[in-house]
Amino acid sequence: MNKVYVKYDCNKCDFTTIDKTKFNRHLQSKRHMVGKSPCNYECTCCGLKTKNKTVYINHLGCPKHKRIYAKTRLKELYQVIIADDI
Ligand SMILES: [Zn+2]
Ligand SMILES: [Zn+2]
Repeated sequence: MNKVYVKYDCNKCDFTTIDKTKFNRHLQSKRHMVGKSPCNYECTCCGLKTKNKTVYINHLGCPKHKRIYAKTRLKELYQVIIADDI
């Protein structure tokens, strides 16, 4: 027989427990308050999320990001042109 556990997931902190009491305690905890946003840096065009500033800055300078960023910009411009046409 399989026991079914309800899992409590805090997607802010990557905290998972099957114990509701523990989960409620987690919500009150410092760890949860401080770790409110585990991804402080986000590159919206590449979908990169990181809490490491150096990683983020390095990412912004990398050719892969520049390529994707240029593409995204192009797409935006293209959409503006199409919108203008209507
Ligand atoms: Zn949390
Ligand atoms: Zn990027």
